[in-house]
Amino acid sequence: MDILKEVKEIIQSNLPKETQVTNIEMEGPEVAIYTRNPKAFFENENFVAKIAFELKKRVNIRTDKSLLSDEQHAKKVIQELVPEGAEIKEIYFNPAFSEVVIEAIKPGLVIGKGGETSKEIILKTGWTPNILRSPTSESEILRGIRHHLHKYSSERKKILQETAKKIYRELPKNNGWVRMTALGGFREVGKSCIMLETPETKVLVDVGVDVANSEQPYPYLEAIRFPLDQMDAVVIGHAHLDHSGLVPLLFKMGYRGPVYCTKPTRDLMALLQFDYIDVLVKEGKEPPYTERDVKEMLKYCITREYREVTDIAPDMRITLHNASHILGSGSVHFHIGEGAHNLVYSGDIKFGFTRLFNNVDINYPRLETLIIESTYGGRDDIQQDRNLAEEQLIGLLKETMHKNGNTLIPVFSVGRAQEIMLVIEEYYRKGMLDGKVFVDGMTKEASAIHTAYPEYLRKGVQRRVLQNDSPFTSELFQVADYKNRDKIIEEKGAIIIASSGMLTGGPSVGYFQKMAENPDNTLIFVGYQGEGSLGNRIQKGLKRTPITENGKTRELPINMRVETVEGFSGHSDRNQLVNYVRNLNPKPKKIIVNHGEKDTAIEFARFLSNKFRINSTAIRDLDSVRLK
Ligand SMILES: [Zn+2]
Ligand SMILES: [Zn+2]
Repeated sequence: MDILKEVKEIIQSNLPKETQVTNIEMEGPEVAIYTRNPKAFFENENFVAKIAFELKKRVNIRTDKSLLSDEQHAKKVIQELVPEGAEIKEIYFNPAFSEVVIEAIKPGLVIGKGGETSKEIILKTGWTPNILRSPTSESEILRGIRHHLHKYSSERKKILQETAKKIYRELPKNNGWVRMTALGGFREVGKSCIMLETPETKVLVDVGVDVANSEQPYPYLEAIRFPLDQMDAVVIGHAHLDHSGLVPLLFKMGYRGPVYCTKPTRDLMALLQFDYIDVLVKEGKEPPYTERDVKEMLKYCITREYREVTDIAPDMRITLHNASHILGSGSVHFHIGEGAHNLVYSGDIKFGFTRLFNNVDINYPRLETLIIESTYGGRDDIQQDRNLAEEQLIGLLKETMHKNGNTLIPVFSVGRAQEIMLVIEEYYRKGMLDGKVFVDGMTKEASAIHTAYPEYLRKGVQRRVLQNDSPFTSELFQVADYKNRDKIIEEKGAIIIASSGMLTGGPSVGYFQKMAENPDNTLIFVGYQGEGSLGNRIQKGLKRTPITENGKTRELPINMRVETVEGFSGHSDRNQLVNYVRNLNPKPKKIIVNHGEKDTAIEFARFLSNKFRINSTAIRDLDSVRLK
């Protein structure tokens, strides 16, 4: 049956006449109800809850267009209604959605107690507030993304309507098979990508790029044997480039469909994609796509909250679950067919303590197949206790300062950077560390984005962000860029936190080249070093490396102290991965291992098979597995 007709019937049979519904529209997986009497919905909150429950969809109540007041007037009313303490930064209108975007430092005050203030706004202006939190320090990228979405809001509305038509199209009866194909990230780390297919539906999950691999950096997209416009959806687990780096390439290749992810993932992946283009251009290489493709992608992002069930195709439903890896990272639960199959794609997961995030989700309504990462799945991959890791890090920083040397910590600008900053900030606050700390690369922007989404952070950090005392934007961290890099190198006892995390390009490489010769300096690795990356080779004992200076190539001796501190990883170590599987509820019937080096993945799959008596395999890229 036509979905709109069905939705209308449910709404009509559940809502009394006085609600004066004038129009009902599908917006992607959500329903928008336009009313001439929003008050009726406020007086009986059960209305929305009841239809949302019946429809199993997010329901948005909007005022009928005829009731929308003039924008200037509405703006004045809003400024009068909202207390000054909210610190409104911006107010703008999206007529396509009958919504007014209000960005504020304290969004709680725009909402008001029990939603009173925002209800008042609707009743007095007709516009429905879409309330956004301002980051506690300026983020150019975030502002750019939000303005971009605003600028294209009527186009976005059309995109959502088209998407809804596809999601809720009529399906012929079929025999319900499910197949997954590994397109990248199997028996390797980098370029994660899988395709899920049923007789009617095709979905891509993660489309990453392997920045440490110069031979085969892209997933096997050429193995997709149909035009990309037949793809139903793309789902992105988290923003790291090995999971999201090539989404814009799909748009360049002609894909024009939804990209499902959390809000932080949308913003952070755009940040990292822009940076990826930038790094390649600076190295004189041609990027696989341009900023225009990233911007096109942003229009098609449909953001979801954790644990929100979302229809993405006639026979497929997803739910994102907290993966505790980086801001907004998700494990994806797929409910395929009418219960025909349930798949969990863990993505990168941390089953262990982090200062930043709540514990990883381990409960699922149903689960037959688990795809699990194995970055640190090797027999010897046991990370030390987090407290010991912190002590070791601080010890190394102090030793280096003592020698008047500088310390370079290459980090992924999203994830490890913030985790390390939290540790350093705490030791400073307690007077247990001093000296200057410089942060270079995308980290400043990424940290600012963290402050726009405190609801994704663990309590302690969340509280500080809400009190406008964000540890990430503390004065302690001085912002560095290419202009003052040379001066920073001259410092004595400085700590430099710089991306990229594997010394594959960007500022960390610049610092490394200037610091490597001095034995008083220290290089500390705190994150994963991909096979083939400069970081990995240095970790394995590389003593010299060629560099180009002023057009000439010379051998750079690596005299600086090189250390690795385990325990800060956003990935689970071997024991944590095993504990994750042990604690999963319910237990999967089949496990597919990905995101780990070849030997590690194979051995880990064998180990899981023996330990849990669950059929586990480490398939290769390009392998297809019939799940049902
Ligand atoms: Zn990751
Ligand atoms: Zn990854």
